[in-house]
Amino acid sequence: MSSLREKLKALEELQQVDLEMNEVRARIEGLPARRAEIDAARMEVRRAYDDEKSRLDGLERERRGIEQLLQLERDKVKKWEGRLGEIKTPREYAALSREIDIAKKANEGSSEQLKELGNQAAEIRGTLEAREEALGEREEAAQGQLQALEKDTAELQDRMAALEKRRAEASTVVDPSLLGKYENIRRRRAGVAIAPVVGMSCNGCHRNIPPQLAIILQRANSIEICPNCNRIIYSADAVNPPSPSPA
Ligand SMILES: [Zn+2]
Repeated sequence: MSSLREKLKALEELQQVDLEMNEVRARIEGLPARRAEIDAARMEVRRAYDDEKSRLDGLERERRGIEQLLQLERDKVKKWEGRLGEIKTPREYAALSREIDIAKKANEGSSEQLKELGNQAAEIRGTLEAREEALGEREEAAQGQLQALEKDTAELQDRMAALEKRRAEASTVVDPSLLGKYENIRRRRAGVAIAPVVGMSCNGCHRNIPPQLAIILQRANSIEICPNCNRIIYSADAVNPPSPSPA
């Protein structure tokens, strides 16, 4: 049968383990958000690249369309010019010549348009190159971040496993009725069920306990509850006497 001091110490150890577990659990729960953040940053850069790429693709499509049309129009002009020699009347000759001039002018316009589209495409290619580089850098950074995340995940899981082991050990020392009380208070008191009293002040609520209770705590032979915050309290000095300093 362990003494009350030992039980209180075990309970304090349990409290310590539970607080650490809460912290580790919160960090484990935060891991998916960290991963999502990394992915979102990647997606943003990827989208910027894709947007520019589809702008370029659209431009190239437009250019090819105009090019094909221009080729047809030029063939037509050639055919018409060939036909000029076979024309007998001056009126017909003049009419076809005029058609040829109009078509040539239109073709010149198309050529200009192609040149303009070519300039735009060159500009977009420059932007695209810069974005491709940014994408590569972001991917590389993301790989590093993901590796760090994996490492953190493994470390947190190891810590949690070690804490679970420590908790199981501490639980065996605390007697079951005290453990039940501890769990009850912990649920209602933001995870902290046991608090040392230092001097007259409860560490759980930072308020002073009545002097009479402080005297009772010094004996360390009964389980006491803080009248302010309802946590299990003990005298820090009585349960964990300061170790004698080496001479
Ligand atoms: Zn208190």
